[in-house]
Amino acid sequence: MNNNLTENISSYLKRIIDEYEVKPISYRYGSVEKLGDGVVRVANLPDCCYGELLEFESGAYGMVLDLEENRVGAVLLEKSNLVRVGETVKGTGRVVRVPVGDCCLGRVLDPIGRTFDGEELKASEYYPVERPAPKLIDRRPVDTPLQTGFISIDSMIPIGRGQRELIIGDRQTGKTSIGIDTIINQKGQNVICIYCAIGQKASTVAGVIKTLRDNDAMDYSIVVSATAADSPAMQYLAPYSACAIGEYFMEHGKDVLIVYDDLSKHAIAYRTMSLLLHRPPGREAYPGDVFYLHSRLLERAACLSKEKGGGTLTALPIIETMGGNISAYIPTNVISITDGQIYLESELFHSGVRPAVNTGLSVSRVGRSAQREAMKKVSGSLRIELAQYREMAVFARFGADIDDTTKALLERGEHLTALFNQGRLDTYSLSEMVIMLYAFNKKAFAGVENSQLDEKSHELYEFVKKNYPAAVKNIETTYDLDDSTKETLKKAIKEWVAL
Ligand code: ATP
Ligand code: MG
Repeated sequence: MNNNLTENISSYLKRIIDEYEVKPISYRYGSVEKLGDGVVRVANLPDCCYGELLEFESGAYGMVLDLEENRVGAVLLEKSNLVRVGETVKGTGRVVRVPVGDCCLGRVLDPIGRTFDGEELKASEYYPVERPAPKLIDRRPVDTPLQTGFISIDSMIPIGRGQRELIIGDRQTGKTSIGIDTIINQKGQNVICIYCAIGQKASTVAGVIKTLRDNDAMDYSIVVSATAADSPAMQYLAPYSACAIGEYFMEHGKDVLIVYDDLSKHAIAYRTMSLLLHRPPGREAYPGDVFYLHSRLLERAACLSKEKGGGTLTALPIIETMGGNISAYIPTNVISITDGQIYLESELFHSGVRPAVNTGLSVSRVGRSAQREAMKKVSGSLRIELAQYREMAVFARFGADIDDTTKALLERGEHLTALFNQGRLDTYSLSEMVIMLYAFNKKAFAGVENSQLDEKSHELYEFVKKNYPAAVKNIETTYDLDDSTKETLKKAIKEWVAL
């Protein structure tokens, strides 16, 4: 018996040794032929592939973006001042990739997956930064909402998990704030959040990270950052890396939210690279493939089918406009790719409407089907009411004689605008929004000053929560507003008004 076993083992080892094949690892070497502004031409580097990572003798890294007959064009990812003409370049045989997995949570990474705190990531898996979008057959329609916590957005421009909703507006209109507050609002919602900063000031990014830390949002968040000081190539890679990190979680059945802040700077970084690579410039000097630049990124946002694990990846790209011009090249491109937009207006922001959402120009093309029943029941006519108010308000400005019905409409519109006002880091839960809107529809706040509305509406909510906790719980658990809850709310509102 023992003999048999020894024989078996030795024959097994023999077979392994016989079958063992020594495979030499071959690297290909070329040399730097031409160099300038972070772009290099490398000669004699055959069999390179698009997007391949190059290692320079001086320690710099580059990425291949141009394939020509006898040379390749590459962009330097960093340390561009060290590279010299004539130095050796190694083709690594693999495309640029990032570490993925739970180890990334709570960390701040650069686009090639290095941390800023000097502590290495212990990643067991890597994903290439450029990956094909999920196939048509692997997707399902969006059916779960992603609550931003902003009453104006969740009631009128609802966002579903797996949707791509653009946040667009001039500078300093609260674009980043909406993204960050939405991330903070995902606490306890089982959503993994990624904030991708592209071409921003390092101090701004540091501020965002501090806000996330202070609000305990870093436990379920990842920050991918390429600041304005980083090379255009790094800025170009940042959103793709963030997306690859998000895809890992999506493929493992999780819900992911990515905020790309912002894609205008991403397009500018790509334009810089393309012009330096001598690609022909097109409209506004952007290269011809600038549409594909963003479409292939945003197509990777998806709502996967149950067979594929049912994970989702929601994208909130941000675009900065100049002087409110949403018909410029990049804004129109991204508007046409996404499933809707939240348009923020400078004028509204400065007149005190915050978040400064222009409801007329904002839409959500798929979110309505994902909206919670309770929210659907209380938000039906808000959009029309607000649109009517805005239209009437223009006439009222001319000092025209106004009849009583119009006056009532104007007052209600102003009231609604005041109800929609929310400060920073002041997001509401579903029951809070539903109860406030229900009370508003039932005219519970009639006679309340606009400036008092915020306080009063919270007071009402606290009143209901304290005296009728079952109604609040019912909304939070069933996501619906059934008849008995409606009756309870009606009673509660009556009591509160009589106080
Ligand atoms: P930038 O163009 O510089 O990126 P932005 O559009 O991202 O700006 P934010 O940085 O989000 O805008 O906000 C600009 C300023 O407005 C910040 O000081 C922020 O605190 C303030 N702000 C944003 N939203 C609100 C809000 N709902 N209530 C009060 N203040 C707000
Ligand atoms: Mg910003």
